[in-house]
Amino acid sequence: MNKEGHVLNGALLALGLGLILAVDPTAGPLITESSSALALEAGRRVVELSLPVILGALFPDVDTAFGKHRKTLHNLPVLAIFLAFPPIFGNLQYVWVGVATHYVLDMVGSKRGIALFYPLSSQEYDLPTGVATSSKWANPVTFVVTAVELIVLGAVHYYVFALDTTFSEAATLLGLF
Ligand SMILES: [Zn+2]
Repeated sequence: MNKEGHVLNGALLALGLGLILAVDPTAGPLITESSSALALEAGRRVVELSLPVILGALFPDVDTAFGKHRKTLHNLPVLAIFLAFPPIFGNLQYVWVGVATHYVLDMVGSKRGIALFYPLSSQEYDLPTGVATSSKWANPVTFVVTAVELIVLGAVHYYVFALDTTFSEAATLLGLF
């Protein structure tokens, strides 16, 4: 995907995710908060997510200028670094979400894959879906990919685990520490 697609994907994902996270899945089927409190919380979440996710969504394509495109910054070790920053340094929260969705959009929405295991392997992984990045279908495909991502994330948040569970909370719940 091109920059436009990645910004669109990041912005819509942040918007959807902000709305998803505003509702606490453990609160039960009845929402006790007033609708204005809920709207305020949703707005705060959307703003909180928007810039980090959009920045993250733009980051991998820096490798068009430095390194090998779709390899140097399009791999799981780079994603792991972004995941490690919040618990270790207390910054860059949510940037990994943008990096992850960039990978998904490149693999699902465009013709060429990404080298997930670079620098261990230069093999590019791709799904048999997607259109050329210059295609007039690029934006519609981006909308569909984003919608599917949000459906999956929403289902996980409500039925599997709350997406804003912190690492230490999760570890405590699992009895790791
Ligand atoms: Zn890319």
